[in-house]
Amino acid sequence: MSFTVVLVGRPNVGKSTLFNRLAGKKLALVDDTPGVTRDWRAAPGHVGGLSFTVVDTAGLEDVSDDSLEARMRRQTERALDRADVALFIIDARAGVTPLDRHFANLLRKGRTPVVLVANKAEGKAGMPGLYEAFELGLGEPLAISAEHGEGMADLVQALMPYA
Ligand code: GDP
Ligand code: MG
Repeated sequence: MSFTVVLVGRPNVGKSTLFNRLAGKKLALVDDTPGVTRDWRAAPGHVGGLSFTVVDTAGLEDVSDDSLEARMRRQTERALDRADVALFIIDARAGVTPLDRHFANLLRKGRTPVVLVANKAEGKAGMPGLYEAFELGLGEPLAISAEHGEGMADLVQALMPYA
C-alpha cells in the first residue's frame, strides 16, 4: 500500500517545484505568478527509495467571490482528507507571512500529520525564515531547496514513518 503526501502552503512557496522533483516530470505548472497552478494534481512520487502518491495543491486564485482565506481553507481541507501526511511549505527567503500563520493554524487543528518544510533554503538567504518558522508551532522546520534538490535526505527521513 502506497501512502499519500499532500503539498500545502500559500502561493509561490515552491509546491509545484517540489511536486515536479518528486514526480520526476514537468507535470505541475510552475510560474512566477502566485497561485498559477490551476488545480491540484496527483502523480506517483519517488524519493530516496520511498514510493508514494504526491498531490500538488493550488487554485487559490480561481475565480470566486470568496476570500483567499476561505478558498485556501476549503482546498486545504479537501486535500488533507486524502493525505497520510502533509508537507506544509513556507518560503525561507520570504520568512513567515500572515498567510503562513493562517495555514499553520488550520493545520494544527487537523488530524493529518504535518511536516514543516522551509523551501528556498539554498545558500544563506533562507536562514532568517528558517528561524522564524519555529514560531509556527509545528516543530522543527526541514530546510530544503526544491529547485536545487537540497535537503532530500532529510525529507526522506521525515516521510519514512508514513511509508
Ligand atoms: P507554488 O505556487 O507554491 O506552486 O510555487 P512554484 O513551484 O510555482 O514556485 C514559485 C517560484 O519559486 C518559482 O519562480 C520557482 O522557480 C521558485 N522556487 C521554487 N523552489 C525554489 C527553491 O528551492 N529555491 C529558489 N530560490 N526558488 C525556488
Ligand atoms: Mg503551484
